[in-house]
Amino acid sequence: MRFVMMHIQRTVWTLTIVLCCAGLTHAQDAKPTPASALQRLKDGNARFVADQNSKRDVGAKKRAELAKGQHPFAVVLTCADSRLAPELIFDTGLGDLFVLRVGGNIADPAVVGSIEYAVEHLHAPLIVVLGHESCGAVSAAINGKPDDFKGDLGWLIKQVKVGDLPADADKKMAAGVANNARAAAADIELRSKIIHEEVKEKKVMIVSGVYSLKTGKIDWLSAPQKKKIAEKIEAPKSVKLDTIPGPSLPIVVDPRWSSVEQPARFPRLRSIFQRWR
Ligand SMILES: [Zn+2]
Repeated sequence: MRFVMMHIQRTVWTLTIVLCCAGLTHAQDAKPTPASALQRLKDGNARFVADQNSKRDVGAKKRAELAKGQHPFAVVLTCADSRLAPELIFDTGLGDLFVLRVGGNIADPAVVGSIEYAVEHLHAPLIVVLGHESCGAVSAAINGKPDDFKGDLGWLIKQVKVGDLPADADKKMAAGVANNARAAAADIELRSKIIHEEVKEKKVMIVSGVYSLKTGKIDWLSAPQKKKIAEKIEAPKSVKLDTIPGPSLPIVVDPRWSSVEQPARFPRLRSIFQRWR
């Protein structure tokens, strides 16, 4: 009898521990912190580098679950280059990452507006700006001449911020890629009061890194000088809309949107996102 009681007691304890742990795991998944989200990306990248990617759940059950709503645990702004894909290099699945891809991973108004949506409405706690080795946009900004790139591509290349570069030609590209990723990370906070407030309250963290095409590994960069950013944030720099080129070809505007004169303005973007929801 005593043995049976001890056995029941042990079973109850085991069940309690299992249920507590399950609850904890679920709670962590439900509300990731900036630090836990970053760790999840680092762990996923380590699996990718070791060629040990998880089996991706993209089946009907997962899709039905996601159709009810999205809760991405991180925002990733990276280049449009075909040789990296955030979901693969971080070993994540559908619904995990809110991804923005644009040549040179620049933080222009449409990009920053999209990140505001992910932070404010989807409560993503982490923003990653990811540059990459041999980035064509960075190379163009370093080596190209202004007349080499016409039209919208020319405008895009001008937004790439390579910063101060070493004289050594071999080190120029790596420094330009890292500087540009750090600059975009800083721009996100400088351009958006919404995101800046979230960062100040430590609800959101912005980090930057550089992806190696060969190894698949991410070199996480140190944060840009906070003091310099803080000085600039006192007087947030707004984007001059007249510096954004208009479409080079006439476009047919849907009559429902005829009242939208400047789709790049933040309030307009916000109203567009509200329609998406
Ligand atoms: Zn690139």
